[in-house]
Amino acid sequence: MKEKHEKIYTCMEHVEQAIDDYVNYNEAAPQLNKADEEEKCAYCQKTSEYLIK
Ligand SMILES: [Zn+2]
Repeated sequence: MKEKHEKIYTCMEHVEQAIDDYVNYNEAAPQLNKADEEEKCAYCQKTSEYLIK
């Protein structure tokens, strides 16, 4: 069973990958928001720039 990813924090480099993953997991159109919290990217160790939900 797939894990749901309701929110994905991502840096600039991983935005496209995060959108793909979001669509695969949730089968819904993602909304791209500016991340305003100090969260790390889900794919690397950088500080995230965007929050996809
Ligand atoms: Zn990243």
